[in-house]
Amino acid sequence: MSIAPTTAPPSLSYELYPPVNRDASEGVFNTIAALETTDPDYVSVTYSGSPARRNASLELIEHLIQNTRLRPLAHLTCVGESRESLQNLIRHFISLGVRGVLALRGDLPTDPQEWRGEFPFARYLIELIREVEADHSAALAGGRLGVGVAAYPIQHPESPSFEHDVEVLLAKERSGANYAITQVYFQPEEYTNLVESSRRAGVTIPVIPGVIPLNSLPRLNRLAKMTGVAPDPILAHALETASSEGERHRIGVDAAVNLARRAFDDGAPGVHLYTFNDHRGSLDVIEQLELPRTRATLTNSWATRAAV
Ligand code: FAD
Repeated sequence: MSIAPTTAPPSLSYELYPPVNRDASEGVFNTIAALETTDPDYVSVTYSGSPARRNASLELIEHLIQNTRLRPLAHLTCVGESRESLQNLIRHFISLGVRGVLALRGDLPTDPQEWRGEFPFARYLIELIREVEADHSAALAGGRLGVGVAAYPIQHPESPSFEHDVEVLLAKERSGANYAITQVYFQPEEYTNLVESSRRAGVTIPVIPGVIPLNSLPRLNRLAKMTGVAPDPILAHALETASSEGERHRIGVDAAVNLARRAFDDGAPGVHLYTFNDHRGSLDVIEQLELPRTRATLTNSWATRAAV
């Protein structure tokens, strides 16, 4: 089955990590200023349940809203959280002006006792977001939040099968998700296979490929540890044997451009770049992709505001 190419201009988005100290903040602010010049549809801000990291996420979101033209997509994880704290956070997002939430379960804490809470799967968080949204209809002028979810080209580490992951994606759509962003992957056909399998299963929401320009082997290995996605041996070898930083940068950018181009050939509705808070690789990827500057979602945003 081939995937019908999309005719709408593609969306462009970036993922940022909230800075954890003053030095890191300066780097992130520089990155934000550089990324802003590319007019992305939204910038996603990662989240972690620990109080310090949660505050850092909220501060970065506020910074984006108050000091930039960028629209934040707030990641939110539910594992180990109480209903009340999640409700409060969603309300806080709405009051700040956030209109898009990426609803995630989050990675499991090491102590399994800690995580068995009311929200063991992302699906339940989506339902809660829809409940809170309904109570804030006046603040949203009757509109709705855009709710995104994670999708997995490579089987999720805890999942019994890739087919199960596709069923989970369908369940998330039926709970109210508007679109999905993929976990990292290294072979173009893994995205194709995810989209084809999802469509066959009944998933209709857009599935945005998540792509990362990787410019070092340690970073590739860290990513593998974080995501459970095995490093691509060819990319790993190329990064390991490259003779200079410039060559490693080029290798990472070329690999990311190749993945994004192949996904667009397959009808991808946009691209989401994992930046690791380093704008250089992402900017080079965007330049090579030559994306139109008019974005699909600026006028019709499934990502940061769902259609009513
Ligand atoms: P779910 O969709 O709930 O799935 C989790 C596991 O449970 C899967 O194995 C699934 O197959 C299984 N499952 C789901 N429903 C059921 C069911 N009803 N019965 C049985 N099994 C089920 N993590 C962070 O901590 N912070 C972030 O900011 C963050 N951002 C991310 C952004 C993207 C784009 C992606 C792809 C991932 C991100 N993650 C983040 C990682 C994510 O939290 C982990 O991958 C986590 O392990 C799973 O989250 P999920 O939302 O996919 O969970």
